[in-house]
Amino acid sequence: MGKMDGVKPISGTYKPPVKPKLLDKNGLRLDGRKADELRPLKIEAHVLNRADGSAYLEWGKNKVLVGVYGPREVHPRHLAKSEKGIVQCRYNMAAFSVSDRKRPGPDRRSQEISKVASEAFEHVVFTERFPRTTVDIYIEVLEANAGTRCAGITAASVALVDAGIPMKDMVVSCASGKIENTMVLDLGKEEDNFGQADVPMAIIPSTGDIVLLQMDGELSKDELAQAIEMNIGACKRIYEIQRDALKRRYSVGKEQEEEEAEEERKKEERKDGEGKDRDGGAREPGPDQSAKGDDWGDGEKPAPFDEDVGEFKENKGGESDG
Ligand code: ADP
Repeated sequence: MGKMDGVKPISGTYKPPVKPKLLDKNGLRLDGRKADELRPLKIEAHVLNRADGSAYLEWGKNKVLVGVYGPREVHPRHLAKSEKGIVQCRYNMAAFSVSDRKRPGPDRRSQEISKVASEAFEHVVFTERFPRTTVDIYIEVLEANAGTRCAGITAASVALVDAGIPMKDMVVSCASGKIENTMVLDLGKEEDNFGQADVPMAIIPSTGDIVLLQMDGELSKDELAQAIEMNIGACKRIYEIQRDALKRRYSVGKEQEEEEAEEERKKEERKDGEGKDRDGGAREPGPDQSAKGDDWGDGEKPAPFDEDVGEFKENKGGESDG
């Protein structure tokens, strides 16, 4: 499944990639991880303003951005289903996401990942609640370093919740595999390239259902069972990170609400103050009223970008394609 880092011919000579030692004498991996250790993972929800839902994820050296739209009209229309909605996921790797420039646009690999990810999400989204519509998920891999399908699916779940799409649960994804005859969790790039097997998987934590299971390489029955067990354990940890991202997203909302309420209260106070001034006749209405703007509190000044925002809103209304 993994693609070798291409070694470019330099002045007519070709050097095949040299397999590094993937495990040291203490059983530690190239990046110092233990066999069952995940790469560092962080997720942030709601990072795009124009998408209905979004998330940004960094997992090891992977960087992934996801935008979700919908439920909305299906394009092309013949894909629409009268009895339920559909989920369309598009996985894309940016041309600059790998060390060699990746040829832009869809290829067989990205079509495969888009298909398996769409099917995974069909299991959790309550599509029967919005017939004839689509939920569109765009997974954009900005930097790739092995495990991008798992990273994309994990981030997309958070973006779906951010978009308010009704779902029975989130989907969580992780891979494990075999390197130098040892089963390890969450393969890095060299492990993916030079390892013996890779098993990406996605589960629904609340039901325990497996909604994606792929395997590249060779494993015995017991090793496959071990890989699945490792993935399930890791998915539970990743699920917590997804939930934390959503909690942060909504607690920020709460802070904003409080700030807005405070601003509203200050406005009311200022209005009351002005009313008293008028009653007391302390101020003469006259041409100087034009200078009233100087007395306005910051909160009452027209926002400098009001016009721009209006324009964006218009544009958003005019968008339709996916
Ligand atoms: P995943 O990213 O889900 O592990 P693969 O196993 O197919 O999927 O790919 C492993 C890694 O190989 C990717 O994360 C990426 O770093 C690299 N890779 C995949 N496709 C290409 C490509 N077209 N050009 C260069 N590197 C690629």
